[in-house]
Amino acid sequence: MKKSPTIIIVLLTVGLFILLGILLGRYTLSRWVTDTPNATCAVTMTEIIESAQGNVYDMGDVSDYVEPQSYDLATYAVLGDKIANPTFESVPNDLKEEQKDLALQNEAWKLFTDLIPSQNRQMVTQYNVFTDGYSNTLAAVDQTEDDPSQWVLEIDVADLQDKDSLVFTIIHEYAHVLTLNASQVTPDQEIVDNPDVSSLQESKAAACPNYFTGTGCSYEDSYIDDFYNRFWVGVNDEWEKIDALQYGAEDLTIYYDALYNFYKTRQDQFVDDYAATHPTEDIAESFAYFVFNPKPAGNSIKEQKVAFFYEYPELVELRANILDNLCTSSSQRQ
Ligand SMILES: [Zn+2]
Repeated sequence: MKKSPTIIIVLLTVGLFILLGILLGRYTLSRWVTDTPNATCAVTMTEIIESAQGNVYDMGDVSDYVEPQSYDLATYAVLGDKIANPTFESVPNDLKEEQKDLALQNEAWKLFTDLIPSQNRQMVTQYNVFTDGYSNTLAAVDQTEDDPSQWVLEIDVADLQDKDSLVFTIIHEYAHVLTLNASQVTPDQEIVDNPDVSSLQESKAAACPNYFTGTGCSYEDSYIDDFYNRFWVGVNDEWEKIDALQYGAEDLTIYYDALYNFYKTRQDQFVDDYAATHPTEDIAESFAYFVFNPKPAGNSIKEQKVAFFYEYPELVELRANILDNLCTSSSQRQ
């Protein structure tokens, strides 16, 4: 059957509108993603990035630094968006009040679920509340002891008062889950059971054809394998010699100084000094800068590390969702 010219013109027009709609949608999305026109969010983003500045390993004249004692306050099971069935460790008297403050513990958890979309955090099945006092360690992630494909999020409730820094740290920690979870790196129970056995690490690394993360062998073309191959191959030998200084050392100052010098001579390669700690820290820190900064305009290696994530459409979408969630939750807070 021959179609009449009118029908063809109508079909063409409809097709053109759909195409225009798609193009316009893409344009709007990419504009939103790169420029983030929402004023509230732009201010929040600047404040969050500023809160992350500062040199972690510039010990200067600090010679007697002692890591503060950390206490586990509560352990929760994660059920979807909610946390349940807390169990409590025994803690010193001055922490008992904090330990009973379930509202505060829920508030810290809500910060995480408000930011990260549900479908992107299914592997987080446990939530631990700890404290080492204000500042110091703000948050952490770890594989669960009995199943390395599952993850624990840990938050220091004493740092809730410093929301910008905590939000930055939560995104940094989430980036570890994103780049080390079972879809990216083979979960390895043997490593979880023997975290400090360096001979095991060496044999596992030797048997891994791709980048070995310390937690397991990464898959070819995983985020961390791609990142390592692109940015770390040339610096890894020198970095490994410095990294080895911390193991078995009584005084970590030598390690900190060497690491800081390594960073100082390559400031155009790392988003900040913490990123030079390890390739897995570099990708996590670069991811946090990717989330909270506009798309880099230049081409330095540290800008390439941030631009790296724009090559993955699912991460561009995740970034847009996190920023959208941040806008919503920060406007609710104000
Ligand atoms: Zn980290």
